[in-house]
Amino acid sequence: MTDSPPDRDRPGCRRIHLASGNPHKVQEFQQLADASDLRLEILPAVKMPSVVEDTGSFVGNARKKAMALKAVLPPTAWVLADDSGLCVDALGGAPSVESAYYAGPKATGAQNLAKLVDRMRSVPDNTRQAHFVCILVLAGPDGIEQVFEGRCNGRLQREPSGKGGFGYDPVFVPEGYNRTFAELGEEVKNRLSHRGRAWTKLAEWLRSEERKQG
Ligand code: IMP
Repeated sequence: MTDSPPDRDRPGCRRIHLASGNPHKVQEFQQLADASDLRLEILPAVKMPSVVEDTGSFVGNARKKAMALKAVLPPTAWVLADDSGLCVDALGGAPSVESAYYAGPKATGAQNLAKLVDRMRSVPDNTRQAHFVCILVLAGPDGIEQVFEGRCNGRLQREPSGKGGFGYDPVFVPEGYNRTFAELGEEVKNRLSHRGRAWTKLAEWLRSEERKQG
């Protein structure tokens, strides 16, 4: 592959199967991996078993997805699962674990975003705080299971703007900025985001494991 960073072609590159069929997530995780000094290849789940995300918690859902994919791969495989969502103060924390299905079980990202914009219409400017949460579960050989959490605080803009990212990115303005995730671009988003922050913790853990193995 000509577009692979050289590190991914070197021996010792660890392959991690992502328990998701969402191409945006595979891409974001690979970008995070490439930006770190770890040699990792993030592989999309070829046959992701269907998982009902019904545990009511980000951790429970992420574990469920990790275990479902782990069960259909060889015992030596490494699996990464994430569960993430947006929690809005003025909506009592919603949509939270329902973020992907906010406008209904088959809703598109655009429909979920439209519902959020609508629900937030009458919410005043000073009470539009929200945060993204991301839980990562890394499962490996010999029963290894590690959980990492990342959070990104911000506020919700009234109307969507920007073309980058996915989901609620066009209305989410991270703390300390005046533009949405969709306007800020991948590099800035990866640095600030809930997924980026959880990833930093995961990368630290992998690095410490590598040090232990010499
Ligand atoms: P999951 O695939 O079950 O983790 O669903 C997460 C849902 O939360 C997505 O479908 C989006 O609606 C929302 N979400 C999670 N992370 C992000 C993000 O980085 N930007 C925008 N929306 C996100």
